[in-house]
Amino acid sequence: MHIDARTLDADTLIEGDLCIIGAGAAGLSIALEWVGRGQKVILLEGGGFTIEERMQALYRGEALDRPYYPLQATRLHFFGGTTNHWAGWSSPYDPIDFEKRDWVPHSGWPITRAHLDPFYVRAQKVLELGAHDFEAAYWEKLQPGRERLPLDGKAFFPKMWQFSPPTRMGTVYRDAIVKSENVHLYTYAKVVEILPNENVTAAESLRVKTIDGKEHKVRAKQYITACSAIHNSRLLLASNSRARAGLGNDHDLVGRFFMEHFEVFGAQVVFAQPQPLALYMHPGFGAGRARAELALTSETQRQHKILNGTSSLSIYATPTPRKSESQVNFPEVGPNPTPQTVYRLFTRQEQAPNRDSRIVLGAEKDELDMPRANLRLNFTPNDKRSIRVFYELLGQEMGRTGLGRLQILDWLLDGDDNAWPAHLRGGWHHMGTARMHDDPKQGVVDPNCKVHGLANLYVAGSDVYPTSGAANPTLTLVSLALRLSDHLKTKVLV
Ligand SMILES: Cc1cc2nc3c(=O)[nH]c(=O)nc-3n(C[C@H](O)[C@H](O)[C@H](O)COP(=O)(O)OP(=O)(O)OC[C@H]3O[C@@H](n4cnc5c(N)ncnc54)[C@H](O)[C@@H]3O)c2cc1C
Repeated sequence: MHIDARTLDADTLIEGDLCIIGAGAAGLSIALEWVGRGQKVILLEGGGFTIEERMQALYRGEALDRPYYPLQATRLHFFGGTTNHWAGWSSPYDPIDFEKRDWVPHSGWPITRAHLDPFYVRAQKVLELGAHDFEAAYWEKLQPGRERLPLDGKAFFPKMWQFSPPTRMGTVYRDAIVKSENVHLYTYAKVVEILPNENVTAAESLRVKTIDGKEHKVRAKQYITACSAIHNSRLLLASNSRARAGLGNDHDLVGRFFMEHFEVFGAQVVFAQPQPLALYMHPGFGAGRARAELALTSETQRQHKILNGTSSLSIYATPTPRKSESQVNFPEVGPNPTPQTVYRLFTRQEQAPNRDSRIVLGAEKDELDMPRANLRLNFTPNDKRSIRVFYELLGQEMGRTGLGRLQILDWLLDGDDNAWPAHLRGGWHHMGTARMHDDPKQGVVDPNCKVHGLANLYVAGSDVYPTSGAANPTLTLVSLALRLSDHLKTKVLV
Protein backbone atom coordinates (compact mmCIF):
# COMPACT_ATOMS: atom_id res chain seq x y z
CA MET A 1 0.00 0.00 0.00
CA HIS A 2 1.24 3.47 -0.83
CA ILE A 3 0.27 6.72 0.84
CA ASP A 4 1.72 10.12 -0.02
CA ALA A 5 2.21 11.70 3.42
CA ARG A 6 1.50 15.14 1.93
CA THR A 7 -2.13 14.10 1.33
CA LEU A 8 -2.80 13.25 5.00
CA ASP A 9 -4.43 15.72 7.40
CA ALA A 10 -1.85 17.54 9.50
CA ASP A 11 -0.94 15.80 12.77
CA THR A 12 -2.04 12.34 11.63
CA LEU A 13 -1.04 9.51 13.96
CA ILE A 14 0.27 6.46 12.08
CA GLU A 15 0.60 3.24 14.08
CA GLY A 16 2.05 -0.19 13.33
CA ASP A 17 4.20 -3.05 14.57
CA LEU A 18 7.49 -2.41 12.79
CA CYS A 19 8.61 0.94 11.43
CA ILE A 20 11.44 1.14 8.88
CA ILE A 21 12.88 4.60 8.25
CA GLY A 22 14.31 4.86 4.72
CA ALA A 23 13.51 2.83 1.58
CA GLY A 24 17.00 2.33 0.13
CA ALA A 25 19.18 -0.78 -0.11
CA ALA A 26 18.90 -1.67 3.58
CA GLY A 27 15.30 -0.56 4.23
CA LEU A 28 13.83 -2.22 1.14
CA SER A 29 15.77 -5.47 1.76
CA ILE A 30 14.02 -5.68 5.14
CA ALA A 31 10.57 -4.48 4.00
CA LEU A 32 10.44 -7.13 1.25
CA GLU A 33 11.00 -9.83 3.86
CA TRP A 34 7.83 -8.75 5.69
CA VAL A 35 5.44 -8.65 2.72
CA GLY A 36 2.47 -10.97 3.39
CA ARG A 37 3.16 -11.41 7.10
CA GLY A 38 0.67 -10.74 9.91
CA GLN A 39 2.36 -7.60 11.22
CA LYS A 40 1.72 -4.07 10.00
CA VAL A 41 4.94 -2.56 8.68
CA ILE A 42 5.30 1.18 8.21
CA LEU A 43 7.95 2.10 5.65
CA LEU A 44 8.77 5.80 5.81
CA GLU A 45 10.55 7.27 2.80
CA GLY A 46 11.65 10.90 2.99
CA GLY A 47 11.44 11.44 -0.78
CA GLY A 48 9.04 10.51 -3.57
CA PHE A 49 9.50 8.10 -6.48
CA THR A 50 11.90 10.24 -8.52
CA ILE A 51 14.84 12.52 -7.93
CA GLU A 52 13.99 16.12 -6.99
CA GLU A 53 16.27 19.10 -6.49
CA ARG A 54 14.48 20.14 -3.32
CA MET A 55 14.85 16.72 -1.68
CA GLN A 56 18.53 16.39 -2.63
CA ALA A 57 19.12 19.83 -1.10
CA LEU A 58 18.13 18.37 2.29
CA TYR A 59 21.32 16.25 2.02
CA ARG A 60 23.65 19.23 1.61
CA GLY A 61 26.59 19.35 4.02
CA GLU A 62 30.20 20.46 4.12
CA ALA A 63 33.43 18.49 3.96
CA LEU A 64 35.44 20.31 6.62
CA ASP A 65 38.89 18.74 6.98
CA ARG A 66 39.75 17.53 3.50
CA PRO A 67 38.09 17.63 0.09
CA TYR A 68 35.32 15.13 -0.59
CA TYR A 69 32.50 14.79 -3.09
CA PRO A 70 29.60 17.24 -2.53
CA LEU A 71 27.60 15.38 0.13
CA GLN A 72 24.21 15.94 -1.55
CA ALA A 73 25.57 14.07 -4.60
CA THR A 74 26.79 11.03 -2.68
CA ARG A 75 23.38 9.69 -1.64
CA LEU A 76 19.97 9.84 -3.34
CA HIS A 77 16.96 11.01 -1.38
CA PHE A 78 14.03 9.10 -2.89
CA PHE A 79 12.46 5.63 -3.02
CA GLY A 80 15.20 3.08 -3.79
CA GLY A 81 17.81 5.37 -2.24
CA THR A 82 21.30 5.30 -3.66
CA THR A 83 20.66 2.04 -5.55
CA ASN A 84 19.09 4.45 -8.08
CA HIS A 85 22.63 5.10 -9.25
CA TRP A 86 24.97 2.63 -7.59
CA ALA A 87 27.31 0.73 -9.91
CA GLY A 88 26.62 -2.83 -8.78
CA TRP A 89 30.16 -3.96 -7.88
CA SER A 90 29.74 -6.71 -5.31
CA SER A 91 32.01 -8.93 -3.28
CA PRO A 92 31.77 -10.34 0.25
CA TYR A 93 34.11 -9.22 3.00
CA ASP A 94 37.03 -11.57 3.70
CA PRO A 95 37.19 -13.54 6.98
CA ILE A 96 40.13 -11.34 8.11
CA ASP A 97 37.93 -8.24 7.82
CA PHE A 98 35.90 -9.46 10.81
CA GLU A 99 38.95 -10.32 12.95
CA LYS A 100 40.68 -8.29 15.61
CA ARG A 101 44.06 -7.33 14.13
CA ASP A 102 46.61 -6.02 16.61
CA TRP A 103 48.00 -3.60 14.00
CA VAL A 104 44.58 -2.07 13.29
CA PRO A 105 43.28 -0.21 16.37
CA HIS A 106 39.51 -0.63 16.96
CA SER A 107 39.34 -3.62 14.58
CA GLY A 108 37.30 -6.76 15.25
CA TRP A 109 33.62 -7.41 14.66
CA PRO A 110 31.54 -9.24 17.30
CA ILE A 111 30.39 -11.56 14.47
CA THR A 112 32.43 -13.59 12.00
CA ARG A 113 32.21 -14.12 8.26
CA ALA A 114 30.62 -17.54 9.01
CA HIS A 115 27.73 -15.76 10.77
CA LEU A 116 27.05 -13.78 7.61
CA ASP A 117 27.54 -16.57 5.05
CA PRO A 118 23.90 -17.75 4.88
CA PHE A 119 22.76 -14.12 4.48
CA TYR A 120 25.31 -13.45 1.73
CA VAL A 121 23.64 -16.27 -0.23
CA ARG A 122 20.22 -14.59 0.14
CA ALA A 123 21.60 -11.12 -0.62
CA GLN A 124 22.85 -12.35 -4.03
CA LYS A 125 19.22 -12.75 -5.06
CA VAL A 126 18.15 -9.32 -3.81
CA LEU A 127 20.92 -7.71 -5.88
CA GLU A 128 20.33 -9.99 -8.91
CA LEU A 129 23.81 -11.48 -8.80
CA GLY A 130 24.83 -14.93 -10.02
CA ALA A 131 25.90 -17.95 -8.00
CA HIS A 132 27.27 -17.19 -4.56
CA ASP A 133 30.71 -18.39 -5.54
CA PHE A 134 33.62 -16.01 -5.15
CA GLU A 135 36.39 -18.59 -5.67
CA ALA A 136 38.46 -17.74 -8.74
CA ALA A 137 38.61 -21.47 -9.62
CA TYR A 138 34.84 -21.47 -10.21
CA TRP A 139 35.04 -18.56 -12.68
CA GLU A 140 38.17 -19.90 -14.36
CA LYS A 141 36.36 -23.16 -15.09
CA LEU A 142 33.25 -21.37 -16.34
CA GLN A 143 34.99 -19.58 -19.18
CA PRO A 144 37.98 -20.99 -21.00
CA GLY A 145 40.82 -18.51 -21.41
CA ARG A 146 40.39 -17.10 -17.93
CA GLU A 147 43.43 -17.89 -15.88
CA ARG A 148 45.22 -16.33 -12.95
CA LEU A 149 48.64 -14.70 -13.15
CA PRO A 150 51.40 -17.05 -11.95
CA LEU A 151 51.99 -15.27 -8.62
CA ASP A 152 52.93 -17.00 -5.36
CA GLY A 153 49.60 -18.33 -4.07
CA LYS A 154 50.76 -18.01 -0.45
CA ALA A 155 51.05 -14.25 -0.83
CA PHE A 156 48.53 -13.33 -3.56
CA PHE A 157 45.09 -14.49 -4.62
CA PRO A 158 42.57 -13.33 -7.22
CA LYS A 159 39.69 -11.73 -5.30
CA MET A 160 36.48 -11.99 -7.29
CA TRP A 161 33.89 -9.25 -7.86
CA GLN A 162 30.44 -9.89 -9.34
CA PHE A 163 28.40 -7.24 -11.15
CA SER A 164 24.76 -6.61 -10.35
CA PRO A 165 22.78 -5.34 -13.44
CA PRO A 166 22.97 -2.95 -11.29
CA THR A 167 19.68 -3.52 -9.46
CA ARG A 168 17.68 -0.30 -9.09
CA MET A 169 15.79 -1.44 -6.02
CA GLY A 170 13.21 1.36 -6.27
CA THR A 171 12.20 0.18 -9.74
CA VAL A 172 12.58 -3.59 -9.39
CA TYR A 173 10.76 -3.86 -6.03
CA ARG A 174 8.27 -0.98 -6.23
CA ASP A 175 5.28 -3.15 -7.21
CA ALA A 176 5.94 -5.74 -4.50
CA ILE A 177 5.89 -2.99 -1.88
CA VAL A 178 3.02 -0.90 -3.26
CA LYS A 179 0.77 -3.95 -3.80
CA SER A 180 1.47 -5.34 -0.35
CA GLU A 181 -1.41 -5.12 2.11
CA ASN A 182 0.62 -5.17 5.29
CA VAL A 183 3.56 -2.98 4.24
CA HIS A 184 2.37 0.62 4.26
CA LEU A 185 4.77 2.80 2.32
CA TYR A 186 4.58 6.52 3.09
CA THR A 187 6.49 8.74 0.65
CA TYR A 188 7.45 12.33 1.50
CA ALA A 189 7.58 11.15 5.11
CA LYS A 190 10.87 12.55 6.37
CA VAL A 191 11.72 11.55 9.91
CA VAL A 192 13.23 14.55 11.66
CA GLU A 193 13.40 13.21 15.20
CA ILE A 194 13.13 9.95 17.12
CA LEU A 195 11.46 10.65 20.46
CA PRO A 196 12.40 8.32 23.32
CA ASN A 197 10.43 7.58 26.50
CA GLU A 198 11.09 9.62 29.61
CA ASN A 199 13.97 7.47 30.88
CA VAL A 200 15.47 7.21 27.38
CA THR A 201 15.31 3.40 27.44
CA ALA A 202 13.18 2.94 24.30
CA ALA A 203 11.99 4.84 21.23
CA GLU A 204 8.40 5.99 21.72
CA SER A 205 7.43 7.82 18.55
CA LEU A 206 8.78 9.60 15.46
CA ARG A 207 8.28 13.15 14.25
CA VAL A 208 7.68 13.10 10.52
CA LYS A 209 7.66 16.17 8.30
CA THR A 210 6.60 16.58 4.71
CA ILE A 211 8.30 18.99 2.37
CA ASP A 212 5.11 21.13 2.25
CA GLY A 213 5.23 21.77 5.98
CA LYS A 214 2.88 19.18 7.53
CA GLU A 215 3.91 17.22 10.58
CA HIS A 216 2.77 13.69 11.54
CA LYS A 217 3.49 11.25 14.35
CA VAL A 218 4.43 7.58 13.97
CA ARG A 219 4.26 4.96 16.71
CA ALA A 220 5.45 1.36 16.43
CA LYS A 221 6.67 -1.46 18.63
CA GLN A 222 10.06 -1.70 16.92
CA TYR A 223 11.99 0.84 14.84
CA ILE A 224 14.79 0.46 12.30
CA THR A 225 16.67 3.45 11.01
CA ALA A 226 17.94 2.76 7.46
CA CYS A 227 18.66 6.25 6.12
CA SER A 228 22.30 5.51 5.04
CA ALA A 229 25.36 6.02 7.24
CA ILE A 230 25.54 9.82 7.22
CA HIS A 231 21.81 10.32 7.67
CA ASN A 232 21.39 7.65 10.34
CA SER A 233 24.03 9.49 12.40
CA ARG A 234 22.39 12.80 11.64
CA LEU A 235 19.01 11.52 12.81
CA LEU A 236 20.40 9.97 16.01
CA LEU A 237 22.42 13.09 16.85
CA ALA A 238 19.51 15.41 16.06
CA SER A 239 17.18 13.36 18.30
CA ASN A 240 18.38 15.30 21.30
CA SER A 241 15.31 16.68 23.02
CA ARG A 242 15.63 14.14 25.86
CA ALA A 243 19.20 12.83 25.40
CA ARG A 244 21.35 15.94 25.04
CA ALA A 245 24.12 14.27 23.05
CA GLY A 246 21.62 12.45 20.83
CA LEU A 247 20.24 8.92 20.93
CA GLY A 248 22.68 6.03 21.38
CA ASN A 249 25.42 8.56 21.99
CA ASP A 250 26.13 8.20 25.73
CA HIS A 251 29.75 7.35 24.88
CA ASP A 252 30.30 9.92 22.13
CA LEU A 253 30.47 7.35 19.34
CA VAL A 254 27.60 8.23 16.99
CA GLY A 255 29.04 9.74 13.81
CA ARG A 256 32.64 8.85 14.71
CA PHE A 257 34.79 6.31 12.82
CA PHE A 258 33.48 7.39 9.41
CA MET A 259 35.26 5.27 6.80
CA GLU A 260 35.49 5.35 3.00
CA HIS A 261 37.39 3.13 0.58
CA PHE A 262 40.52 4.55 -0.98
CA GLU A 263 40.24 4.39 -4.75
CA VAL A 264 43.34 5.66 -6.50
CA PHE A 265 45.96 4.76 -9.09
CA GLY A 266 49.08 3.58 -7.24
CA ALA A 267 51.40 1.97 -9.78
CA GLN A 268 51.92 0.92 -13.36
CA VAL A 269 53.20 -2.35 -14.70
CA VAL A 270 55.03 -3.40 -17.85
CA PHE A 271 54.71 -7.13 -18.49
CA ALA A 272 57.66 -8.80 -20.20
CA GLN A 273 55.12 -10.36 -22.58
CA PRO A 274 51.40 -9.89 -23.15
CA GLN A 275 49.55 -11.95 -20.54
CA PRO A 276 46.16 -13.68 -20.76
CA LEU A 277 44.28 -11.30 -18.48
CA ALA A 278 40.64 -12.05 -19.27
CA LEU A 279 40.04 -13.07 -15.65
CA TYR A 280 41.02 -9.55 -14.54
CA MET A 281 39.13 -7.51 -17.14
CA HIS A 282 35.70 -5.97 -16.57
CA PRO A 283 33.15 -8.26 -18.26
CA GLY A 284 30.20 -5.82 -18.25
CA PHE A 285 27.23 -5.93 -15.88
CA GLY A 286 24.59 -8.57 -15.10
CA ALA A 287 24.13 -11.87 -13.28
CA GLY A 288 27.00 -14.24 -13.94
CA ARG A 289 29.48 -11.46 -14.77
CA ALA A 290 32.63 -11.47 -12.66
CA ARG A 291 36.25 -10.45 -12.62
CA ALA A 292 39.26 -10.70 -10.35
CA GLU A 293 41.45 -8.11 -8.67
CA LEU A 294 44.92 -8.79 -7.27
CA ALA A 295 44.74 -9.28 -3.51
CA LEU A 296 47.09 -10.14 -0.66
CA THR A 297 46.32 -13.18 1.48
CA SER A 298 45.50 -12.68 5.15
CA GLU A 299 48.88 -14.24 6.08
CA THR A 300 50.71 -11.57 4.07
CA GLN A 301 48.59 -8.78 5.58
CA ARG A 302 49.41 -10.13 9.04
CA GLN A 303 53.12 -10.44 8.31
CA HIS A 304 53.43 -6.86 7.05
CA LYS A 305 50.82 -5.32 9.38
CA ILE A 306 48.89 -3.74 6.56
CA LEU A 307 45.25 -3.06 5.76
CA ASN A 308 43.17 -5.12 3.34
CA GLY A 309 43.20 -3.89 -0.22
CA THR A 310 43.06 -5.01 -3.83
CA SER A 311 44.40 -3.74 -7.11
CA SER A 312 42.82 -3.91 -10.53
CA LEU A 313 44.54 -3.86 -13.89
CA SER A 314 43.33 -1.24 -16.27
CA ILE A 315 44.41 -0.70 -19.83
CA TYR A 316 46.58 2.39 -20.01
CA ALA A 317 44.26 4.16 -22.43
CA THR A 318 41.33 4.05 -19.96
CA PRO A 319 40.03 7.63 -19.59
CA THR A 320 41.31 9.21 -16.40
CA PRO A 321 40.49 10.55 -13.94
CA ARG A 322 37.38 8.39 -13.69
CA LYS A 323 34.36 10.39 -12.65
CA SER A 324 32.51 7.61 -10.85
CA GLU A 325 32.10 3.89 -11.18
CA SER A 326 28.76 4.31 -12.89
CA GLN A 327 29.98 6.82 -15.45
CA VAL A 328 32.71 4.66 -16.94
CA ASN A 329 32.07 2.66 -20.08
CA PHE A 330 33.82 -0.66 -19.69
CA PRO A 331 34.64 -2.38 -22.95
CA GLU A 332 33.48 -5.98 -23.22
CA VAL A 333 36.69 -7.99 -23.04
CA GLY A 334 36.80 -11.52 -24.42
CA PRO A 335 39.31 -14.21 -23.54
CA ASN A 336 42.01 -12.73 -25.78
CA PRO A 337 42.08 -8.95 -25.56
CA THR A 338 44.46 -7.17 -27.90
CA PRO A 339 47.93 -8.03 -26.65
CA GLN A 340 49.11 -5.27 -24.34
CA THR A 341 51.98 -5.09 -21.91
CA VAL A 342 51.39 -1.79 -20.09
CA TYR A 343 48.70 -1.50 -17.42
CA ARG A 344 47.79 0.89 -14.65
CA LEU A 345 47.12 -0.51 -11.20
CA PHE A 346 44.12 0.89 -9.39
CA THR A 347 43.90 0.48 -5.61
CA ARG A 348 40.74 -0.29 -3.66
CA GLN A 349 41.62 -0.33 0.04
CA GLU A 350 39.99 -0.15 3.44
CA GLN A 351 40.40 2.94 5.59
CA ALA A 352 41.55 2.20 9.14
CA PRO A 353 38.98 3.03 11.83
CA ASN A 354 39.76 6.44 13.28
CA ARG A 355 37.78 8.33 15.97
CA ASP A 356 38.62 11.68 14.36
CA SER A 357 37.07 10.78 11.03
CA ARG A 358 33.47 11.69 11.70
CA ILE A 359 30.06 13.14 10.93
CA VAL A 360 29.11 16.19 12.98
CA LEU A 361 25.97 18.32 13.07
CA GLY A 362 26.42 21.80 11.62
CA ALA A 363 24.96 25.07 12.87
CA GLU A 364 23.00 25.47 9.62
CA LYS A 365 19.58 23.83 9.29
CA ASP A 366 17.81 22.47 6.22
CA GLU A 367 14.37 23.41 4.93
CA LEU A 368 12.75 21.03 7.42
CA ASP A 369 14.66 22.62 10.29
CA MET A 370 16.98 19.65 10.72
CA PRO A 371 20.66 20.43 11.44
CA ARG A 372 22.85 19.61 8.46
CA ALA A 373 25.43 16.81 8.64
CA ASN A 374 29.04 17.82 7.94
CA LEU A 375 31.96 15.49 7.29
CA ARG A 376 35.37 15.57 8.93
CA LEU A 377 37.25 12.96 6.92
CA ASN A 378 40.65 12.02 8.37
CA PHE A 379 43.17 9.30 7.62
CA THR A 380 45.99 7.52 9.47
CA PRO A 381 49.58 6.93 8.25
CA ASN A 382 48.96 3.18 7.94
CA ASP A 383 46.31 3.91 5.31
CA LYS A 384 48.95 5.19 2.91
CA ARG A 385 51.76 2.84 4.03
CA SER A 386 49.51 -0.15 3.29
CA ILE A 387 48.95 0.94 -0.32
CA ARG A 388 52.72 1.34 -0.80
CA VAL A 389 53.61 -2.00 0.83
CA PHE A 390 51.05 -3.75 -1.40
CA TYR A 391 52.86 -2.48 -4.51
CA GLU A 392 56.33 -3.17 -3.06
CA LEU A 393 55.33 -6.80 -2.53
CA LEU A 394 53.72 -7.03 -5.96
CA GLY A 395 56.82 -5.48 -7.56
CA GLN A 396 59.10 -7.98 -5.86
CA GLU A 397 56.89 -10.84 -7.02
CA MET A 398 56.85 -9.53 -10.60
CA GLY A 399 60.63 -9.46 -10.54
CA ARG A 400 60.96 -12.91 -8.95
CA THR A 401 58.67 -14.55 -11.49
CA GLY A 402 60.05 -12.59 -14.44
CA LEU A 403 56.50 -11.41 -15.22
CA GLY A 404 57.58 -7.80 -15.61
CA ARG A 405 58.46 -4.57 -13.86
CA LEU A 406 56.32 -2.44 -11.61
CA GLN A 407 56.69 1.28 -11.02
CA ILE A 408 55.17 2.70 -7.85
CA LEU A 409 53.77 6.19 -8.43
CA ASP A 410 55.70 9.09 -6.88
CA TRP A 411 52.97 10.16 -4.46
CA LEU A 412 53.41 6.88 -2.58
CA LEU A 413 57.18 7.38 -2.31
CA ASP A 414 57.24 10.97 -1.04
CA GLY A 415 58.25 9.94 2.50
CA ASP A 416 55.19 11.50 4.16
CA ASP A 417 52.42 9.07 5.03
CA ASN A 418 50.20 11.95 6.12
CA ALA A 419 50.29 13.58 2.68
CA TRP A 420 47.67 12.60 0.11
CA PRO A 421 47.47 13.56 -3.56
CA ALA A 422 44.78 15.84 -4.93
CA HIS A 423 43.53 13.09 -7.24
CA LEU A 424 42.69 10.77 -4.30
CA ARG A 425 39.13 9.57 -4.53
CA GLY A 426 36.76 7.50 -2.43
CA GLY A 427 34.36 4.81 -3.57
CA TRP A 428 31.23 6.80 -2.57
CA HIS A 429 31.03 4.32 0.32
CA HIS A 430 30.08 5.51 3.81
CA MET A 431 30.71 3.24 6.77
CA GLY A 432 31.41 2.99 10.49
CA THR A 433 29.40 5.80 12.10
CA ALA A 434 27.26 3.49 14.29
CA ARG A 435 29.82 0.77 14.89
CA MET A 436 28.88 -2.67 16.20
CA HIS A 437 30.42 -3.85 19.48
CA ASP A 438 29.40 -6.01 22.45
CA ASP A 439 30.53 -3.25 24.79
CA PRO A 440 28.33 -0.09 24.82
CA LYS A 441 31.46 1.94 25.56
CA GLN A 442 32.97 0.87 22.26
CA GLY A 443 30.01 0.55 19.95
CA VAL A 444 26.68 2.18 19.13
CA VAL A 445 24.88 -1.08 18.28
CA ASP A 446 25.10 -4.61 19.65
CA PRO A 447 25.69 -7.68 17.43
CA ASN A 448 21.97 -7.71 16.52
CA CYS A 449 22.24 -4.09 15.31
CA LYS A 450 20.16 -2.85 18.25
CA VAL A 451 21.22 0.52 19.65
CA HIS A 452 22.80 -0.05 23.07
CA GLY A 453 20.56 1.18 25.87
CA LEU A 454 17.39 1.47 23.74
CA ALA A 455 15.07 -1.54 23.82
CA ASN A 456 13.47 -1.20 20.38
CA LEU A 457 15.70 0.84 18.06
CA TYR A 458 17.88 -0.82 15.39
CA VAL A 459 20.28 0.47 12.74
CA ALA A 460 20.47 -1.05 9.25
CA GLY A 461 23.29 -0.06 6.93
CA SER A 462 27.05 0.05 6.54
CA ASP A 463 27.33 2.45 9.48
CA VAL A 464 27.38 -0.60 11.78
CA TYR A 465 30.68 -1.85 10.27
CA PRO A 466 33.54 -1.68 12.81
CA THR A 467 36.03 -1.93 9.91
CA SER A 468 35.47 -1.22 6.26
CA GLY A 469 37.02 -4.20 4.43
CA ALA A 470 38.36 -3.82 0.91
CA ALA A 471 35.18 -4.78 -0.92
CA ASN A 472 32.33 -2.44 -1.85
CA PRO A 473 29.82 -2.37 1.02
CA THR A 474 26.34 -3.00 -0.35
CA LEU A 475 26.33 -6.81 -0.58
CA THR A 476 27.41 -6.94 3.07
CA LEU A 477 24.88 -4.35 4.23
CA VAL A 478 22.05 -6.19 2.48
CA SER A 479 23.21 -9.41 4.17
CA LEU A 480 23.22 -7.70 7.56
CA ALA A 481 19.77 -6.24 6.87
CA LEU A 482 18.42 -9.74 6.12
CA ARG A 483 20.04 -11.00 9.32
CA LEU A 484 18.40 -8.18 11.30
CA SER A 485 15.05 -8.95 9.68
CA ASP A 486 15.34 -12.63 10.69
CA HIS A 487 16.23 -11.61 14.24
CA LEU A 488 13.10 -9.46 14.50
CA LYS A 489 10.91 -12.15 12.92
CA THR A 490 12.09 -14.98 15.13
CA LYS A 491 12.94 -13.29 18.43
CA VAL A 492 11.12 -9.98 18.72
CA LEU A 493 7.91 -9.61 16.70
CA VAL A 494 6.87 -13.26 16.70
C1 LIG B 1 27.97 6.74 -7.56
C2 LIG B 1 27.86 5.59 -6.59
C3 LIG B 1 28.28 4.33 -6.98
C4 LIG B 1 28.21 3.28 -6.07
N1 LIG B 1 28.59 2.04 -6.48
C5 LIG B 1 28.59 1.02 -5.60
C6 LIG B 1 29.01 -0.27 -6.01
O1 LIG B 1 29.39 -0.48 -7.15
N2 LIG B 1 29.00 -1.26 -5.10
C7 LIG B 1 28.58 -1.06 -3.81
O2 LIG B 1 28.60 -2.01 -3.03
N3 LIG B 1 28.13 0.15 -3.41
C8 LIG B 1 28.13 1.19 -4.27
N4 LIG B 1 27.68 2.42 -3.87
C9 LIG B 1 27.20 2.58 -2.48
C10 LIG B 1 25.72 2.14 -2.34
O3 LIG B 1 24.91 2.96 -3.13
C11 LIG B 1 25.34 2.24 -0.86
O4 LIG B 1 26.19 1.37 -0.12
C12 LIG B 1 23.90 1.84 -0.56
O5 LIG B 1 22.97 2.44 -1.41
C13 LIG B 1 23.59 2.23 0.88
O6 LIG B 1 22.34 1.71 1.22
P1 LIG B 1 21.47 2.38 2.37
O7 LIG B 1 20.16 1.70 2.40
O8 LIG B 1 22.28 2.44 3.62
O9 LIG B 1 21.31 3.92 1.90
P2 LIG B 1 20.48 4.47 0.65
O10 LIG B 1 20.45 3.48 -0.44
O11 LIG B 1 21.00 5.82 0.38
O12 LIG B 1 18.98 4.57 1.21
C14 LIG B 1 18.62 5.44 2.26
C15 LIG B 1 17.12 5.79 2.10
O13 LIG B 1 16.67 6.51 3.25
C16 LIG B 1 15.91 7.64 2.84
N5 LIG B 1 16.04 8.62 3.93
C17 LIG B 1 17.16 9.29 4.31
N6 LIG B 1 16.91 10.04 5.40
C18 LIG B 1 15.60 9.83 5.72
C19 LIG B 1 14.77 10.29 6.78
N7 LIG B 1 15.24 11.09 7.73
N8 LIG B 1 13.47 9.90 6.80
C20 LIG B 1 12.97 9.04 5.86
N9 LIG B 1 13.75 8.56 4.84
C21 LIG B 1 15.04 8.94 4.79
C22 LIG B 1 16.55 8.04 1.53
O14 LIG B 1 15.68 8.83 0.75
C23 LIG B 1 16.85 6.69 0.90
O15 LIG B 1 15.76 6.17 0.18
C24 LIG B 1 27.72 3.49 -4.74
C25 LIG B 1 27.29 4.78 -4.37
C26 LIG B 1 27.35 5.81 -5.28
C27 LIG B 1 26.90 7.17 -4.85
